[in-house]
Amino acid sequence: MSFGPPRQLKKAARVILVGAPGVGKGTQTERLLDKFPQLASISSGDLLRENVRDKTQLGLKVESAIQSGNLVPDSTILDLISSEFKSRGWLLNNGSVSPTASFILDGFPRTAAQAASLDALIPVNFVVQLLTPPSVILSRIASRWIHEPSGRVYNTTFHAPKVPYKDDVTGEPLTQRKDDSIDTWKQRLQKFEDTSKTLLQHYDAKGVLWRVEGNTSDEITPKLFAEIEKRFC
Ligand code: ATP
Ligand code: MG
Repeated sequence: MSFGPPRQLKKAARVILVGAPGVGKGTQTERLLDKFPQLASISSGDLLRENVRDKTQLGLKVESAIQSGNLVPDSTILDLISSEFKSRGWLLNNGSVSPTASFILDGFPRTAAQAASLDALIPVNFVVQLLTPPSVILSRIASRWIHEPSGRVYNTTFHAPKVPYKDDVTGEPLTQRKDDSIDTWKQRLQKFEDTSKTLLQHYDAKGVLWRVEGNTSDEITPKLFAEIEKRFC
């Protein structure tokens, strides 16, 4: 899929993607980074999986929650994200925000409490709610494969890697997420439904919420690009 030449942002874009597990947040993020080179991204799920893989203290603490499809504690995820903000230079030591930082957050915040904490760190100015029927997501979750070190996402039925089960960029093996089993996915969806309503209300009240629907990522991407161009280019 090609989505046209890269575009330059005129205003700092601080974007959050919200959507059910497997809706394609990671896929949209990859495409946004290509299209708008000033953007950088943080995926809370990728950061957590990295910690689990490296068996860090934090990783050992959160592994069972992730594997069962539950959320990790707000305080844990906040520590992780704010240290990531600092290491990327978005959050200065005096507590202020770099005025030029443009970014996408994939998977954070996930609760209204996390959103309130983020407001105190860096206010976001565009919240994208990705809408795809759960039955459609469920039908594709079993064929999702990822390159864990980078977070790149493939699907063996509609976005297959060039070489089967190998990452296009590094040639390294792809794996399946343990929490992509059907039962765990259902639990994750339940969690999402429990927590996303107040999260979305939080941003709707601030006037920054925008919804986009589609059955596939390819359907959603052009609409998302057009909206970002309208708001930030
Ligand atoms: P997908 O990546 O397919 O869009 P997802 O949003 O369920 O789906 P991740 O964002 O990768 O998946 O998150 C995987 C798991 O990591 C979650 O089920 C949860 O346990 C934990 N997690 C990730 N982000 C957060 C967060 N902001 N707060 C609490 N737990 C989180
Ligand atoms: Mg993800």
